[in-house]
Amino acid sequence: PANTVGIIGLGVMGAPMAENLLRAGYNVIGHDISEAAVKRLVAAGGRAGGDIAGTLAGAGTVITMLPDSPQVEQVVLGPGGVLEHAEPGLLYIDMSTVRPETSRKIAEAAAAKGVRALDAPVSGGEKGAIDGTLSIMVGGDADDVEAARQVFEALGTTIVHVGPVGAGQTVKAANQLVVGGVYALIAEAIVLLEASGVDAGRGLDVLAGGLAGSRILDLKRQTMVKREFRPGFRIDLHHKDMGIALAAAREAGVALPMTGMVAQLIAAARAQGLGALDHSALLKVIERINS
Ligand code: NAD
Repeated sequence: PANTVGIIGLGVMGAPMAENLLRAGYNVIGHDISEAAVKRLVAAGGRAGGDIAGTLAGAGTVITMLPDSPQVEQVVLGPGGVLEHAEPGLLYIDMSTVRPETSRKIAEAAAAKGVRALDAPVSGGEKGAIDGTLSIMVGGDADDVEAARQVFEALGTTIVHVGPVGAGQTVKAANQLVVGGVYALIAEAIVLLEASGVDAGRGLDVLAGGLAGSRILDLKRQTMVKREFRPGFRIDLHHKDMGIALAAAREAGVALPMTGMVAQLIAAARAQGLGALDHSALLKVIERINS
């Protein structure tokens, strides 16, 4: 059982993560409400769980990689969910990005069933998931983090235990506000360069090599200049994450003015019908402000 991993949520991130677990030698049982997603896993050598109970059968570890807090709560706490079917000793790892309170609520319910729970959201995007180079920020008990380490090593290269349950999600919220801000400013740089008659691609090449350089500039500047916005990471999901960051700020009693502004730009992108595009489509919002 220790080498069998169940995974629920086989989307942009969950599918390549499951494939990396297979490559690392784990037996992988997967479940998703999308049949096509399950077929992809089976084609890669995994097994279809059929439902949540079937996905837990024989698995020592179960991972969720779902869109948002309501889906995670339903799958874990809901009728027919993970905790209803879990045997004591199961290691449950939520790698989705959700509210820290969701992680704490789940860990409490899990503990009552003898199930160990970690929140372990990730950064690195679709490419990090495919390459197995995710950054994984883990909240929970140190012993449980150690128990999960081998699984994490199949998925990522930077694995950091950042604190108790919920702390992983707080770190992820910090990550998302930085990522959103960087995209917004790259978009503004492109608009300025083009409006001034300067080649934006060449301009950003220079930025990438200097102090303004970033992983986002490295990976995304060419597609942004070409206006290719296939997700990747959908605007809708980043909108959710800005909400998580602002709620965390409110709870912590701090003001994050830039985060508020970026959250409004992402809300505008959504209002303009861009929710299904990659978050680099913030460029369209900045262009529309100027057209
Ligand atoms: P996605 O929408 O591509 O995948 C989510 C999957 O969950 C879908 O296949 C969907 O069918 C499935 N699903 C939804 N509800 C379900 C349910 N009740 N039972 C079973 N399956 C269900 O999303 P994604 O891009 O893979 O993101 C997943 C999580 O990871 C999100 O929390 C996101 O914020 C986070 N994340 C995404 C990225 C990225 O670059 N895409 C990067 C880091 C973190």
